[in-house]
Amino acid sequence: MADHAGPAETLHDHADVLVVGAGAAGLAAALWLGASGLRVLLAEQDVALGGGSLLDRRWDSWRAKVCAALRGLSSMRCLPRTTVLGAYGHGVFGALETLSPEESARFGGLRERLRIVRARRVVLATGALERLIAFPGNDTPGVMLAGAALKFLRHYGVAVGQRPAFFVNSDEAYETLFSLLEAGITCAGVIEVREKSLAAERAHALGVEVHAASLVTAVSGRRGVSAVRISDPRGRHRRWLQADCLLISGGYSPVISLASQLGAALNWREAIAAFAPDLAPAIGQVAGAARGVFGLAAAARDGERAAGAIAAELG
Ligand SMILES: Cc1cc2nc3c(=O)[nH]c(=O)nc-3n(C[C@H](O)[C@H](O)[C@H](O)COP(=O)(O)OP(=O)(O)OC[C@H]3O[C@@H](n4cnc5c(N)ncnc54)[C@H](O)[C@@H]3O)c2cc1C
Repeated sequence: MADHAGPAETLHDHADVLVVGAGAAGLAAALWLGASGLRVLLAEQDVALGGGSLLDRRWDSWRAKVCAALRGLSSMRCLPRTTVLGAYGHGVFGALETLSPEESARFGGLRERLRIVRARRVVLATGALERLIAFPGNDTPGVMLAGAALKFLRHYGVAVGQRPAFFVNSDEAYETLFSLLEAGITCAGVIEVREKSLAAERAHALGVEVHAASLVTAVSGRRGVSAVRISDPRGRHRRWLQADCLLISGGYSPVISLASQLGAALNWREAIAAFAPDLAPAIGQVAGAARGVFGLAAAARDGERAAGAIAAELG
């Protein structure tokens, strides 16, 4: 038998509000709801609470403060390593909790718990996913999402290359560039789809070559990136740029799967080129990047907005 087929158990949980996702939006919402006396269950699929705030050191003290406040609330239960898998209507959700090795040892080798959660309302604060950009050679080893490179740097202290190039179409992607520069990595250049942007100007001011209104149309290298071909918007060759990896970011799409299961209306948002969901208030609220509200401060504020709406309704 495969060793993942270890013992598991099923538990039932009840809460006034289930908060799914513990990024800036979910943490802010959980704190607001818990402080108003509601019974809150906060489920986070990662081992640590924080989501995107874990990638930005300036948010470390905010996160520590909120997590300490959550621990002090008797009506709050935080479940890390817990993925909400399904939303079945009438306030019923399925969640899979994976036990840490220490917990597993304490519970006689138990590996997982299936939690059936019943909640009066839900806050979906599940964040957004970075999009790929398709081009010839985008499966070459060393072509990866910019956000993944930032995670390597922040979580493991690993630089994915010594001379990365970027292919981007949004300001958020430049956060990885600025972080790599701060860590002493030299950037080969940024291939930017847009004509201009504030982030591109900042990169330029930091001495980074920005190729505006440009595309990547080829990658050279077999076992790794050695150069990328830059073309104009019509695909006409401009030049080759030497680089040892290519970090791409095609913007962000809200994670909408649970909201869709709950019948949320999906609204097309031209500004982010993605659908953002709206839940019926009788079911709950979507908050933060899951609703197309990007940036840590904006996401935290949106979490509080969502919590305020639910708290007002539940009294
Ligand atoms: C590479 C990168 C760099 C950025 N840099 C900055 C920056 O410097 N400054 C800034 O203001 N903004 C930055 N942003 C944007 C910012 O990180 C996001 O807008 C912000 O994190 C959104 O917060 P959130 O709480 O809505 O979502 P997130 O922080 O993404 O949190 C969502 C959480 O939900 C969890 N989750 C998802 N689905 C489930 C599920 N089914 N069950 C349980 N848990 C689930 C995820 O694990 C995650 O922890 C950056 C984004 C990226 C990708």
